[in-house]
Amino acid sequence: MSTEPQATTADGSGAPDADCLFCRIVAGQIPATVVRETETTLAFRDINPQAPTHVLVIPKLHHPDAASLAAAAPQAAADVLAAAGEVAAQEELESYRLVFNTGAGAGQTVFHAHVHVLGGRGLQWPPG
Ligand code: 5GP
Ligand code: ZN
Repeated sequence: MSTEPQATTADGSGAPDADCLFCRIVAGQIPATVVRETETTLAFRDINPQAPTHVLVIPKLHHPDAASLAAAAPQAAADVLAAAGEVAAQEELESYRLVFNTGAGAGQTVFHAHVHVLGGRGLQWPPG
């Protein structure tokens, strides 16, 4: 278990964080290759893809990780999962993996909830 501090605003309101990379993408201040947008979610290609398809799906609300999103805004969490499935369908992925890295020790580097949609190649189990 990681004891490293995590950079979050985490006031639970979902308000944008001016220092958050993904809030800045939502605000249009940083460009991204958007593949799908709904009222509550945004999906864009990962800048450092780990598979032929590697899309990040985020809620437009700022919450630091998936569990805090689900606790504070359960409909938004459901919307993220639905959007991830829609992205997989539009990318024509027969099989794919959804990953929510949670905490620095698990590889989370951006503390705005997001799910990785990975596919287009064989995926090993267990993950690294
Ligand atoms: P995490 O490591 O937090 O689970 O995932 C964060 C992801 O964001 C990483 O896969 C990383 O490649 C991606 N990423 C970091 N900065 C940017 C950026 O500026 N634009 C895009 N599209 N992806 C980014
Ligand atoms: Zn954010």
